[in-house]
Amino acid sequence: MSLARHLAKLGYGTRKEAERLLQARRLTSADGTVLRDGDRFVHEEVRLDGTPLDPPPNSVVLLNKPVGYVCSTSDRPPLVYDLLPSRFLQRTPVMATVGRLDADTSGLLLLTDDGALNHRLTSPRSHVPKTYVATLAERLRGDEAARFASGTMRLQGEETPLLPAQLEVLGEREAALTIREGRYHQVRRMFAATGNHVVALRRTSLGSLLLGALAEGSWRVLDGVEREALV
Ligand code: URA
Repeated sequence: MSLARHLAKLGYGTRKEAERLLQARRLTSADGTVLRDGDRFVHEEVRLDGTPLDPPPNSVVLLNKPVGYVCSTSDRPPLVYDLLPSRFLQRTPVMATVGRLDADTSGLLLLTDDGALNHRLTSPRSHVPKTYVATLAERLRGDEAARFASGTMRLQGEETPLLPAQLEVLGEREAALTIREGRYHQVRRMFAATGNHVVALRRTSLGSLLLGALAEGSWRVLDGVEREALV
């Protein structure tokens, strides 16, 4: 693929605009050699005005989503995209969120331009485990873990019982809940069904991937090993 086309696919403008960047000698390799459109290039070594390019095609980005940010391309701001390079929405294919977190949920959110991977992770049949740490308004009663694990629990207005979920008590009003599906407001509704109320919710893991020490509002690209382990 030509470098101009590569840049256009990554959202650096139209093909014509990308060609103009090249003509203006703004694209170089890591050692400062000016790149032309026909040149062979290695994505990781290309620089625009000295800055490395955005992640290459088929990347997975891990964002530590703060409370208040919306997982949408068109809702009322602030959007999770406000925390990322503006080009993520101009890419072809676009960097899409892998599922969604509620605006008032924080923590681990993935974005990818790999549609097949996104589908594999979010398909109702995939059952990827996701762990959420919930802070609760009321003390835990003690019977929640058994109810969540039973495989017979139903959410209000739904026929199909929930898949078994694992609860780890972290404190009187704090617990980590691991679920394997993604129903609407699922964690909040599960605690509501036990007579409690979630006052704060943070996703800490998805599959083998942990949020770790990534600062709130920051993002990083998954490495090959992390990505392989995801599916
Ligand atoms: N469950 C919820 O209630 N909210 C989320 O954002 C994710 C899971």
